[in-house]
Amino acid sequence: MLTCQELVAHSSDFLDGQLGFRERLAVRVHLASCRNCRRFIRQMRVTQAVLRTLPDEVIPELDSLAERLAQQRREPPQD
Ligand SMILES: [Zn+2]
Repeated sequence: MLTCQELVAHSSDFLDGQLGFRERLAVRVHLASCRNCRRFIRQMRVTQAVLRTLPDEVIPELDSLAERLAQQRREPPQD
């Protein structure tokens, strides 16, 4: 039986489909009985999915957008 720490150590390989049959089985057995790790894996999955939809080029645009929004907040519109 895996410990939670071992599961965390294997988690990215598990999500990438890099584990062998035995290891994958061990992870699944652990997940079946451990709520915390189920939640952890779910969050990892969501994070990976979000990161995959964000190409690197988008990030500078987001930064400048955030900057503009911050400036607008600092300078209230004049009447
Ligand atoms: Zn666990």
